[in-house]
Amino acid sequence: MVRTRLTRLLGIRHPIIQGGMQWVSRAELVAAVSNAGALGILTALTHASPEGLVREIQKTRELTDQPFGVNITILPTLQPVPYEEYVQATIEAGVKIVETAGRNPEPFLPALKQAGVRVIHKCTSVRHAVKAERIGCDVVSIDGFECAGHPGEDDVPGLVLIPRTDDSVTIPIVASGGFADGRGLAAALALGADGINMGTRFLATREAPIHERIKKILVEADERQTTLILRSLKNTARVFRNRVAEEVLKLEEQGAGIQDIGPLVSGKRGERVWSQGDPEAGIWAAGLVVGLIADVPTVAELVERIVRDAESIIGEKLPGLLSIADR
Ligand code: NAD
Repeated sequence: MVRTRLTRLLGIRHPIIQGGMQWVSRAELVAAVSNAGALGILTALTHASPEGLVREIQKTRELTDQPFGVNITILPTLQPVPYEEYVQATIEAGVKIVETAGRNPEPFLPALKQAGVRVIHKCTSVRHAVKAERIGCDVVSIDGFECAGHPGEDDVPGLVLIPRTDDSVTIPIVASGGFADGRGLAAALALGADGINMGTRFLATREAPIHERIKKILVEADERQTTLILRSLKNTARVFRNRVAEEVLKLEEQGAGIQDIGPLVSGKRGERVWSQGDPEAGIWAAGLVVGLIADVPTVAELVERIVRDAESIIGEKLPGLLSIADR
């Protein structure tokens, strides 16, 4: 067993968190992850209303008695979002772990802390990690340039971002972006993290509620098949490289604004990728780890494999290197 400050703080068996994925992080996946001993995270904005989120929380509870969390992402959206209401509904539903992302969570912290909620703040720069610690977040999840979705604008990969964060904060650190296997977990721990966050890798699991065709594409894809869009709007997103993403890039080159780009990138359109299995239906977030995905295991098989491989690297391979040096 790999035990860290993160496993102790969150009451989980393995130092692995399933990233909040819009439209995908629903009860069946989240419960499977939590039942496997990692931490499943629902996404608040997958649900059109706070009431919808509460129903999903209840459904998750029917499927697992293990800890799980709720992700609240505060980024620009095409329609206004009542964030305060989602936070309140999450607290009232008794959820004890919340992952915030996208913007400074300070306005929500008093209510969350008063309710005894552990707050993981996901951010993409060291300065935001330092601020997260200062305002009272319990954990910082540092999201490197490799990640799916929004990597920020600094383009710093995990190899530098994780140790820089370790040098700069004292709270537990989750390494996010670029993780898919036991080598990644062992590397993250060596770089100073207390666990990893994985999104894209969990897409290619039996329990992920997405079309089988998309899982097959993830298995076949290599690490060059993502691209960065929305950079011209300072809201960069890493997505699977398809015709829609290429059209967005062309519009951005022409200086188009969100009015023209919005219909192409809309989440409602992207949802059809997952539900209908049409990879060209819209844009869909995918990280560089598409190059590391070679099968579609169950969540439990995946988590067990990652932990077993990390243990063998930490317990056998690396100590073995030391003994070779001694000879
Ligand atoms: P949406 O349909 O409202 O917007 C689609 C995309 O356009 C999103 O990336 C959004 O950030 C961006 N966008 C919207 N208005 C913008 C503006 N005025 N300027 C610049 N960019 C703008 O969003 P959705 O797909 O329904 O997703 C809901 C929320 O979840 C969004 O905030 C989205 O960014 C976020 N999200 C995060 C991730 C991730 O990083 N893990 C993945 C998917 C979605």
